Amino acid sequence: MPGWIVPPPTPPTKTGAQLAAERRRKVRWLEEQGLLKSARIKAALLSVPREDFIPPEYRDYAYEEVPLPLPGAAATISCPHSYPLFYEPLGLDRGQRFLEVGTGSGYGAAVAREVVGDEGLVVSVEIDRLTHEFARRNLERAGYDDVVLVLGDGGLGHAALAPYDRIAITAACADIPPPLIAQLRIGGCAIGPLLERGVQNLTLITKQRDGVRRETICEVLYVALRGAYADRKPPLALPRRSA
Ligand code: SAH
Repeated sequence: MPGWIVPPPTPPTKTGAQLAAERRRKVRWLEEQGLLKSARIKAALLSVPREDFIPPEYRDYAYEEVPLPLPGAAATISCPHSYPLFYEPLGLDRGQRFLEVGTGSGYGAAVAREVVGDEGLVVSVEIDRLTHEFARRNLERAGYDDVVLVLGDGGLGHAALAPYDRIAITAACADIPPPLIAQLRIGGCAIGPLLERGVQNLTLITKQRDGVRRETICEVLYVALRGAYADRKPPLALPRRSA
């Protein structure tokens, strides 16, 4: 992905115990950075083995701060810090109905399932068939059999299970697609990278009775959203260089 350096593929060498120790260290680091505060999100990050959602040739890099390539046309598992970066401001919590746009590896859906618990619901939509199949196998193997996986355009949401309390869009778009706002309950929140003047700003929106409140969190870099709500604006014109 442009902007990120993907480490070279390598045969997996690390043991489960080594990776578990790296996972605990990563969670401590996320807390030290002030990115992780919620006890439920912390417990979820400690319990989901991220290495099991990564192709074997990248498994050893599971806890490094890089997105890693996945099967499919343009899919990556986001950096470890992305998940608290999204889920903390979103206020993801027990009992919520959560919709994810861009299943990728399935890791984000697994972490969300741990956070919302048995009383909640996780629905995740992926547009790329190969990526969707990869996520389905990962989640099945890890025992997450009640996460609802949908192959389709997540920009259209998944009306059959709406309304949602929380929505995370994990690919960059010009604005939050209107069907997602429609499928959010009043008081619910959505988060995602929005393209503004050539940069992506992670933006939190809250649906209110009389409109939508917006808050910019920070600049980020994600793959582009595909489908009906793909950004179709031409890239910004660069100043012409004089000869
Ligand atoms: N949340 C993922 C990372 C997602 S990367 C994880 O935890 O691993 C972004 C994903 O969004 C990619 O898999 C890409 O194929 C998918 N995507 C892009 N446009 C989409 C759309 N319109 N609907 C659903 N998925 C989409």
